[in-house]
Amino acid sequence: MTSGSMTGSAGTGGAGERPARVRYAPSPTGDPHVGNIRTAVWAWLHARHTGGQFIVRIEDTDQARKIEGSVERILGSLEWLGLDWDEGPDIGGPFGPYVQSERLPLYHEAVERLLASRDAYRCFCTAEELDAMRERQRAEKRPPGYEGKCRAIPPTEAEERAKSEPHVIRFAVPDEGTTVCHDLLRGRIEVENSTLDDFVILKSDRYPTYHLAHVVDDHAMEITHVTRGDEWIPSMPRHCLLFDALGYERPIFVHTSIILAPGGGKLSKRHGAKSMLEYAEDGYLPDAVFNFLCITGWGYGDETVMSRQQLIDVFEIENIGLNPATFDMEKLTWMNGVYIRQTPVEELSEMIARRLEVELPPDVPRPVDRALVEAVTPLIQERIQTLAEVTPLIDFFWQSEIAPPPPEEFLQKRWKDRASDAASALERVAAATEEVEPFEAGPLEERMRSLCEELEVKAGDLFTLIRIAVTGRRVSPPLFESMEIVGRGVCVDRLRAASASLAAVSAP
Ligand code: GLU
Repeated sequence: MTSGSMTGSAGTGGAGERPARVRYAPSPTGDPHVGNIRTAVWAWLHARHTGGQFIVRIEDTDQARKIEGSVERILGSLEWLGLDWDEGPDIGGPFGPYVQSERLPLYHEAVERLLASRDAYRCFCTAEELDAMRERQRAEKRPPGYEGKCRAIPPTEAEERAKSEPHVIRFAVPDEGTTVCHDLLRGRIEVENSTLDDFVILKSDRYPTYHLAHVVDDHAMEITHVTRGDEWIPSMPRHCLLFDALGYERPIFVHTSIILAPGGGKLSKRHGAKSMLEYAEDGYLPDAVFNFLCITGWGYGDETVMSRQQLIDVFEIENIGLNPATFDMEKLTWMNGVYIRQTPVEELSEMIARRLEVELPPDVPRPVDRALVEAVTPLIQERIQTLAEVTPLIDFFWQSEIAPPPPEEFLQKRWKDRASDAASALERVAAATEEVEPFEAGPLEERMRSLCEELEVKAGDLFTLIRIAVTGRRVSPPLFESMEIVGRGVCVDRLRAASASLAAVSAP
């Protein structure tokens, strides 16, 4: 039996600069939530900051909770965020395999050692017996937990029974003493061993529990830092007991706080608790999300927008905040706009093209005309905060015909009840558009401004008519630049079509 009072050999202070081996160890039970991914961001940054390794390990020992396709989506999320891994399920590495269900012999070997040293024992209690025990504990208002009945079975008898009886293996927690653990952010955490029950380390299906599996793996994979959510703090003493009983050096534990919704409370989908792949669909740039997640709960002075390299340079894992951070969706969207404006036009236009490929109506020929995308991109780069805004803003460039917008679209404010005025104004615009030379934004605007004077109409009022006629909408990229791209012929056709539809309204 291991002594109950102990202090870890690691985790007592600063991370130092020795290359860290940090792992991200998701269970394939669905898409990882943002809090979980933020921990991966920090783990990755710590690995890169120290020149160490970032390792991905799939923790699939709870076979019942496995969701098909999860691993692909988890890896896809990391890839999208630019969190590259040095070892992992798909690429292998010196400590593979990196999927726990493929490492069962390692856990069985650890269990044998713990049985031999009497740090573990076989438990034959049936589900009914355990239920009855829990019931009793409830009735007597005692804390739940296994009471150690099977600990008393002599090992040779247990061996014999194990040949035919289903059973689990439990860790024998010392009855007395305390277990002292260290968390890099929280310092010393101490518990009385008497408050810990003999927890299961190997289930009856011969799969290990998380507790055992991650201890064995973190040791075998030479992990230096266990970064994970603070929901694992209550289990940490058990893990420390396991590390010690197996004679393994403890890693440095870094438990990160949760992310809260604005105003406190659980983060809901509306507040940003979406998967990474949904952020991709919603038009966020990976670099912006990466930057945002990093500074949600960690900070470097008042800096907000920082490049990946800057973050790698200045990230100090010790400075992760203990107070739960609030998820500020508005800030993320603002930051995304900043990143969009910083993106070189060619790169942004490629991103835009990829969205258009998916989102434009099927009658638009594919591949989408790249030269046109490159011409349009500078018109909207300053105006959008997410890529989701793009298609509705610019799809008219790809439509050879747009149905003339309904007359009521035009007949507002200045043009209310003045369909015939609007029709003739648009006819004048069409004529001017036919003549203006060269057909470029500058001369077009100049010509339209003088037409405003001739018609005694405010620029805003006339331009609204033109905008609706040419683009089919009230909000568009800059009007005259758009007209230049759409081309003279199409502009004239659309202006005449709109004029005709308004004339029809005004006809007696
Ligand atoms: N598989 C555990 C989870 O997804 C990992 C916890 C850890 O990082 O140790 O919560």
